Amino acid sequence: MNYQEIIDKQQQFFNTNATKDISFRIKELKRLKNILKKNEASLYNAIYKDFKKSEFETYVTELSIIYHEIDLALVKVNKWAKKKKASTGLANLPGKSYIIPEPFGTVLVIGAWNYPYQLSLCPAIAAIAAGCTVVLKPSEVPSRTAAIMATLINQNFDPNFFKVIEGGVKETTELLNVKFDKIFFTGSVPVGKIIYQAAAKHLTPVTLELGGKSPAIITKDVNIDMTAKRLVWAKFLNAGQTCIAPDYVLVESSIKDKLLSSIKEHIEKSDYNVENHNYTQIINEKNFDRLNDMIDRDKVCIGGNVNKEERIIPPTVMKDVEFSDDVMQDEIFGPILPVLTFDTIEEAIKQVKNLSKPLSCYVFTKNNNVKKKVLNEISFGGGAINDAMMHFTEQTLPFGGVGNSGIGSYHGKYGFETFSHYKSVLQKPFWIEPNFKYSPYSDKKLNFLKRFIGL
Ligand code: NAD
Repeated sequence: MNYQEIIDKQQQFFNTNATKDISFRIKELKRLKNILKKNEASLYNAIYKDFKKSEFETYVTELSIIYHEIDLALVKVNKWAKKKKASTGLANLPGKSYIIPEPFGTVLVIGAWNYPYQLSLCPAIAAIAAGCTVVLKPSEVPSRTAAIMATLINQNFDPNFFKVIEGGVKETTELLNVKFDKIFFTGSVPVGKIIYQAAAKHLTPVTLELGGKSPAIITKDVNIDMTAKRLVWAKFLNAGQTCIAPDYVLVESSIKDKLLSSIKEHIEKSDYNVENHNYTQIINEKNFDRLNDMIDRDKVCIGGNVNKEERIIPPTVMKDVEFSDDVMQDEIFGPILPVLTFDTIEEAIKQVKNLSKPLSCYVFTKNNNVKKKVLNEISFGGGAINDAMMHFTEQTLPFGGVGNSGIGSYHGKYGFETFSHYKSVLQKPFWIEPNFKYSPYSDKKLNFLKRFIGL
């Protein structure tokens, strides 16, 4: 496929200014929602074939989030796209200052495999709302979900406006040789660095949604049952293959045993099982082997009985884990929960800060000082107090990482902003122009300006 030609045509289409029209954006967003609604059965079927993800989890963690993003954009895009007034200083009066959001142009969205619909389509929705044309490269790892997105979008949209290109490393590498006006990438830290370098050659701005080890810090005063319930849900949803899942637990030593038995109870109650559609498979053999190697059988206290043929790793909890253990060296991205302990909050914060800045951080506590300390001292993308992952569902909150966990953010209006340039404009009338800045210069003019500027 000649990628340059596809992008040239998208740029030509962008230059017709068709996407600047808000009614065009609204029409295309509605089209997308209709197509997805009409083809829900095929979407469920494809993702089930890829990694046995159930209709329930697909609706809750993928389609409902996509529909919400579209609905919010439909209601708000007029407001988001409006020119915004800014105040004007004395030197430029009686001029007017304002900011015009303008679409970046032709953008490339590269998706990850773990929530294949949502992580590909939500950035595309934000880009469409902002008035961009979009090339979407979904992850090739869940091949059926990539194929169904390509079919549905390529059959229903003008390719000069919105096109899906399927492929893996080779195709993405070729795509990155072409100059886009913005690249939005979701994936791992090492590939994020490749994307950033490729974008730098064209001075293309990037948003990088990456990963990392997100901690859950738990103090002794919590409601243990509720903490375990929320933690178990967040960790084992999608079989732990979630960028914002609590990667590891840091619990105050005195409640470790009680927390572990409550976690066990909630895992049992959840009835996690691929057959009854309460659980998903590990995406592929490579990830299965990677995860299996992380499990230290001597430290497993819950689960651990893996099934390689079916690519199933049941919820697995490891206790007495140390920061030097294998499982603590990289992001887990699977259903293994290491439990570590601490005696003082200072020590816990220090340990978290020894690792790269996490995408998420969760603190379960009733102690206001602990809450304040964690929020003040640990840098992280986003997070929750006394819950895990649910911050993701709030469209009023920007979603993104910091440091190694990413650059930039999206969701709701933050997605619109991510695909927009904010053009600043000063507008002046002709009828007045003070002479002070013009030559010939004089001491009088300088003295006046010094007083006027006031510095
Ligand atoms: P990945 O980096 O392997 O792949 C992501 C995308 O990059 C895919 O589309 C893939 O085809 C492409 N790609 C892979 N290798 C490439 C290369 N050498 N050159 C160019 N393109 C390449 O990531 P993944 O395995 O799909 O996802 C897992 C990672 O993504 C985890 O680290 C997870 O934390 C992170 N993640 C982050 C978020 C977030 O919102 N921050 C969401 C989901 C996943």
